[in-house]
Amino acid sequence: MTYPTQPEASHFIDGVYVEDTDGALIDVIYPATGEVIAQVHAATPAVIEQAITAGLRGQKVWAAMTGRDRGRVLTKAAMLLRERNHDLSVLETMDTGKPYQETSVADATSGADALEYFGGLAASLTGEHIQLGEDWVYTRREPLGLCVGIGAWNYPTQIACWKGAPALACGNAMIFKPSETTPLSALKVAEILHEAGVPAGVYNVVQGMGEVGGALVGDPRVAKVSLTGSVPTGRKVYAAAAAGLKHVTMELGGKSPLVIFDDADLEDAVSGAIMANFYSSGQVCSNGTRVFVQKGLRERFVARLAERVGTAVLGDPLDPETSFGPLVSARQLEIVQGYIAKGVAEGARLVCGGERLDRPGYWLTPVIFDGVSDDMTIAREEIFGPVLSVLEFESEDEVITRANDTEFGLSAGVFTNDLRRAHRVIAQLDAGTCFINSYNDAPVEAPFGGMKSSGVGRENSRAAIEHYSQLKTVYVRMGKMEAPF
Ligand code: NDP
Repeated sequence: MTYPTQPEASHFIDGVYVEDTDGALIDVIYPATGEVIAQVHAATPAVIEQAITAGLRGQKVWAAMTGRDRGRVLTKAAMLLRERNHDLSVLETMDTGKPYQETSVADATSGADALEYFGGLAASLTGEHIQLGEDWVYTRREPLGLCVGIGAWNYPTQIACWKGAPALACGNAMIFKPSETTPLSALKVAEILHEAGVPAGVYNVVQGMGEVGGALVGDPRVAKVSLTGSVPTGRKVYAAAAAGLKHVTMELGGKSPLVIFDDADLEDAVSGAIMANFYSSGQVCSNGTRVFVQKGLRERFVARLAERVGTAVLGDPLDPETSFGPLVSARQLEIVQGYIAKGVAEGARLVCGGERLDRPGYWLTPVIFDGVSDDMTIAREEIFGPVLSVLEFESEDEVITRANDTEFGLSAGVFTNDLRRAHRVIAQLDAGTCFINSYNDAPVEAPFGGMKSSGVGRENSRAAIEHYSQLKTVYVRMGKMEAPF
């Protein structure tokens, strides 16, 4: 396999690659080996200004096109992403450490799904007509203007597309700032969008740490901010956006419950728990990390889960046989190890995992804790790593109360063969994205987002259109105008 990693330059602005070596140097590290595979420079104030100016100019050109023409461009970009899926997946693997087995089916492909879906919707975006006697009102669905997207490091391509596709479908321009941990893939998304026909300035990528994101969020010319990140960052970005009364979408963290009743199909439930905890080495916001298992099934469940987790292949991430990769960075590894130590210290039973592999890179074997109680740190805080906690429960009412006892509300899942119970329980769980006898599916057709501290707004589906457009109301008087004097 070839490693198409070194970008032409750090930023993509106004349809071309841009460099400014005055910006702080950021090493891009392949998490599987710890090697530096590329370097980018953080955006300087001059680069940020260039991106904002280009975005404002490009947005006018883009918004003047018909929805159908915009949609055709986005659909073409989707096609290019699919055609280049192999190279983009290798790049994503190098950027994040996620195995090619995953990136080849879940990253550029899901980005393409978003471009295709919103490309298809672009021509159908309309206002409405409201008749009021002989007068009438019409509404125009207008773009917001220049939008800023700020991404986390776990799904760099997907996040760049999930934010870019609805924004562009509605006629906005975007400046996207990837996480400094994974800066490469978004540049490819920008390149492909321009190759497909997006006018210069409509989709720009600038690199940098939090302060670059902060400068963009604080700029009065920016109309909207969409962040995927942690709750603490969400609080800061939301507050900064509120100061400028900007529109926001916040896709934040979680500590989601996965509830397994003892009538569930055991193999299905184990598969669900694996998908809810170990995909992307557990670095998924919607993960069901609190696995509540009913008393009658718990022992058998834990035994089977440990057996299947033991078959995970921790090899070269570029080898399609590898099913479990390293953590994204030394820092993330340290955080996860800290939580494992806390779990042990607070009395949880470590069933398996938690060992560092004797090789370079940030490798950690997947962890199962049993006997976890609601007050333990590992059951309360988002770990963002491959650490699954099993909590035993007895009754339906009890598990609903315990599942909801968290500040988060991103996702929730239920495994049961009792049809009525499945829907009854899901209806009572405080979470934005729920699953019955499944976990972590995220089709672009369905709204995705969180309740409580897990977020504001929704990505994907028609719901995202509401977050990237605004209505202008126009009252039309057909008769004479009256006035009191
Ligand atoms: P962070 O919250 O640390 O960072 C998210 C992004 O915000 C990064 O690009 C970061 O830049 C940037 N940022 C940090 N501070 C500021 C600031 N003051 N102003 C503007 N931008 C800022 O998250 P991680 O990258 O560590 O990602 C993990 C988190 O993301 C987890 O909590 C996870 O749950 C959440 N997440 C949520 C998802 C969802 O859809 N709900 C999906 C995926 C992840 P930099 O990193 O360069 O400093």
